[in-house]
Amino acid sequence: MNDSPLLSRRGFLATAGAAAAAGLLKPALALAEDARPADPFTLPPLPYAFDALEPAIDKETMQIHHDKHHAAYVANLNKAIITSEHVGKPIETLLKGLSTLPADLQTAVRNHGGGHHNHALFWTAMKPGGGGEPSGKLADAIKGAFTSFDAFRTAFNEKAVKHFGSGWAWLVSKDGKLELLSLPNQDSPLSSGATPILGLDVWEHAYYLKYQNRRADYVNAWWGVVNWEEVGKRLP
Ligand code: MN
Repeated sequence: MNDSPLLSRRGFLATAGAAAAAGLLKPALALAEDARPADPFTLPPLPYAFDALEPAIDKETMQIHHDKHHAAYVANLNKAIITSEHVGKPIETLLKGLSTLPADLQTAVRNHGGGHHNHALFWTAMKPGGGGEPSGKLADAIKGAFTSFDAFRTAFNEKAVKHFGSGWAWLVSKDGKLELLSLPNQDSPLSSGATPILGLDVWEHAYYLKYQNRRADYVNAWWGVVNWEEVGKRLP
């Protein structure tokens, strides 16, 4: 069961709508629900079951990470954006133009908008039975930038394991070149003019239940669930 507040609300609306259509609800209640403005952003459902990435990432971590952490980023982003003149803009546009936003909105978009976009990219960059190596254009680009896939993986691991505090390790494309970044908190590569290709969440909430302080073990296990087919599509 998916018990996310956002999805539950949508589920309730669908039920309420069906009930209203069947004449089962008083019109006043149906009107009150209709009058609520739609949330600009919604929590995307996980593309697989909570336990699908075990043993690399455990079910409970996935459930809390998606249904609580990601849901909270979406809810807080919606709260900040719904009354602003920027409502209706895609998240990528908001993050690319972060420095042009008013200060109060800038903080909310950096933290909650970045959190929403980073996690949406994270879920889809993994799949059960993933791992191995990329093929095609991405494989060539990685070889060009890092000499070999193994050298790339070693350098990425170092970014992920050595990142101090909460943040992400990223493979990005910038000015036509692949690069590695280590970014704090929920800062998006989009805000520094880079295109995110592959990101690894190294916040403790991403691994602590199973791995405690053994971040390197989490990083090593994660390579076994990377969805290279999806990640390859992100190369500009
Ligand atoms: Mn996270």
